[in-house]
Amino acid sequence: MLAPRAVACLLLAFSSIAVEARAAEPMRALIVDGQNNHRNWPQTTQMMKKYLDQSGLFAVEVATTVPKGQDPNFSPKFADYKVVVSNYNGADWPKATQQALLDFVRTGGGLVVVHAADNAFATWHEYNEMIGLGGWGGRNEKSGPLVYLDEKQMLVRDDRKGGGGHHGKQHPFQIVVRDTEHPITRGMPRAWMHTQDELYDSLRGPAENMKVLATAFSDTASGGTGRHEPMIMTIDYGQGRVFHTPMGHANESQECVGFITTLQRGTEWAATGGVTVPIPADFPTADETKSRKFTN
Ligand code: ZN
Repeated sequence: MLAPRAVACLLLAFSSIAVEARAAEPMRALIVDGQNNHRNWPQTTQMMKKYLDQSGLFAVEVATTVPKGQDPNFSPKFADYKVVVSNYNGADWPKATQQALLDFVRTGGGLVVVHAADNAFATWHEYNEMIGLGGWGGRNEKSGPLVYLDEKQMLVRDDRKGGGGHHGKQHPFQIVVRDTEHPITRGMPRAWMHTQDELYDSLRGPAENMKVLATAFSDTASGGTGRHEPMIMTIDYGQGRVFHTPMGHANESQECVGFITTLQRGTEWAATGGVTVPIPADFPTADETKSRKFTN
């Protein structure tokens, strides 16, 4: 028989373990921004920061470059974070900073690329390897193939000549999950409506070690390609994991519950290789968009 005092000590020890399990240290995440051809980037950074903080998994910090030209002092310590989220589309970073991001991902760090972040660094070869596909910035057939699903829904790597990166008129569009077993997309409805956004098409890049988890049909009626364009992608790079979504143009695009959930799950996957963020009850359906009005 234990003395009452020893029992009390044991209970205390157990309860502190339980508290620790509930309040596991959030993972450090870093959003990089500062330049973007999208003038709403300060808002979308705050939106993504809040969405990631709200998951309870992340403690998010932001590193911002000078507003124009190369920032000689931009040198975040990527290695201090589990995952880096790019909302950046601007001038090249100093070589040492670019190298530090490469080293970070190669040695197991997570990278998340959202919308115009895949326009950045068109001539930085390793960046394009990490993101799989990119657009604009002079990208063409030398950047790599176009990647899409054809009318038979088969994945095509198309080496035809031409530019990389285009979109038709903004509109709500349906996301179709192509890989129902990947941690990011597992449990999502097979099809769900995304709120008004630019539907990027004709992205090009090395697309090595890339999985296309979901696509959207780029209708010629809205100025698109008539092809199923990649919308949720993962890339394995060295020991690191990259999650890439071309969704997220406008604030209203990022208020989509599908976007929010995909961002949270994709960022968790990039950080850990697994996903615990649930599919919420207000997730969009095959024919209905769902939004959460953003407030600071
Ligand atoms: Zn855009």
